[in-house]
Amino acid sequence: MSSGHEAAFWADEEMRHLAPGRTHVVRDSKTPSGPVPISGLRGPIISDALFRTFKSHGLDVRFVYTIDDYDPMDSQSMKERAGMAEHMGKPLCAIPSPDPSVGTDFADYHATRFVALFAGLGITPEFHRMRDLYRAGELDKQIDLVLRNAETIREVHKRIANVDHPKGWLPVAVICENCGRIGTTLATDYDGKTVAYECKRDYVDWAEGCGHKGRISPFKGNAKLLWNEQWCADWDHFDVTYEEGGKDLLTAGGSRERSNEIYREVFKKEPPPGLQHEFFTFGGKKMSTSQGVGASAVEIVGIYPPEITRGGHAPAPSCG
Ligand SMILES: [Zn+2]
Repeated sequence: MSSGHEAAFWADEEMRHLAPGRTHVVRDSKTPSGPVPISGLRGPIISDALFRTFKSHGLDVRFVYTIDDYDPMDSQSMKERAGMAEHMGKPLCAIPSPDPSVGTDFADYHATRFVALFAGLGITPEFHRMRDLYRAGELDKQIDLVLRNAETIREVHKRIANVDHPKGWLPVAVICENCGRIGTTLATDYDGKTVAYECKRDYVDWAEGCGHKGRISPFKGNAKLLWNEQWCADWDHFDVTYEEGGKDLLTAGGSRERSNEIYREVFKKEPPPGLQHEFFTFGGKKMSTSQGVGASAVEIVGIYPPEITRGGHAPAPSCG
């Protein structure tokens, strides 16, 4: 990170995106699919610095952090670990915990370890788990909207990213009632209440479905939206007004641009602005624990005091 003076400058600069006279919501998120590399802390640190800066300028602002624990286990590095092959494609929150004394399930274990670092750094956003939002039906309105506009969304994916989904494709993943996998199902034919789905053996190369076919309501936690559409649903649900993101998500045709366009065309809202941050690099390579480059966030925070890990420039937490 750059010097304290410059850091204050970029955070202050971002104020120009925010209209006065309303509540602002800064959002960040993490998929708890394994140990978090140090680069994983950069997003929360930047979002927190922005949150504090906006607040110090007198804005009414919330900092929302979602734990994307309904995502499927799709990590190649995890597939090779003992006992993990049978869990590939299941929601992260449906996989056993490596250590039940730390977390109740795989997602809770990794989220708990990562979130614990936040407290040590003085970062205390509102945490929301996607499993809770889905199961409580908090995103049902957004799921219905997305499914009714699936054809428009299919065209956006084709136009922006040249990704061709099959005709009749729905941007939702059902949890298979037979094998419990969420990453292997293809949903079609939304009738306003239910969708048809097939748990396909060869749908993805990181997990094998069981072949089950059925019909089920996509609401109340039976399904999750796919990545781009879930992003839009979160923006809409929390009324997000600012979200920064890594550069790989922000490139032309990238994930952010797809979500932005879907948000405009389907949700009829302007997507939140966001800063682009550079990745932590190590010897010119992007840091990632899966590539064996760099230290994990847990290791770094254990070694350095908070003011060093944060760059020593963010405004101090207010007392009381
Ligand atoms: Zn299945």
